Amino acid sequence: MIIFGTGSSTIHPKKLEGGSCPYCNTENNMWIQGYRKYIHVFWIPFFPIGKKVYSVCGHCKGAFEEREFQNQQLIQSFNDFKNNQIKTPWYHFTGLTILVVFIALLIVLPYLTK
Ligand SMILES: [Zn+2]
Repeated sequence: MIIFGTGSSTIHPKKLEGGSCPYCNTENNMWIQGYRKYIHVFWIPFFPIGKKVYSVCGHCKGAFEEREFQNQQLIQSFNDFKNNQIKTPWYHFTGLTILVVFIALLIVLPYLTK
């Protein structure tokens, strides 16, 4: 029986530079947060399948998708963060790494035992 499915890990919230809330207009209190999704097999993260990021206002607690931003500075700050700060952690590739090592061993072993 193979047990597999998807899991997710949360991205630690970070404060964005500048910008204002699209809803309550509070300045410089926007936070970026989100989560990453991955496929797991027997609860070992196998490979990542994507991430979801959005921003939350520190004042009204409203959550906003990138397309809801009207402020250019906020869009800039959000994209900088998304592209530079949110990396896929190495352990999301654990299963894939094990598989590659296993296949490599299967290929190499017959030569080693000759
Ligand atoms: Zn707000």
